[in-house]
Amino acid sequence: MAEYMHREFLKPLNNAEFDRLHHPGAATPLSGIYRCQVCGHEAVSTRGHPLPPQTHHMHPNKAAIQWRLIVASNNP
Ligand SMILES: [Zn+2]
Repeated sequence: MAEYMHREFLKPLNNAEFDRLHHPGAATPLSGIYRCQVCGHEAVSTRGHPLPPQTHHMHPNKAAIQWRLIVASNNP
């Protein structure tokens, strides 16, 4: 689970982007921390670069990774 110490550096944002699931290797829509919907594994990815590939980590049942944005950086 992502962690933080100083809450003044984070703010809630109601944005549908946080509800979208992305395939491994898809272009990262917003820079930030992504969480695998299947197992909770986290990774950082930068906008425009590919999200981590299916080989990033394995699931016991071979289920595909599904990345979900959980913390977005400020994207100017
Ligand atoms: Zn996973």
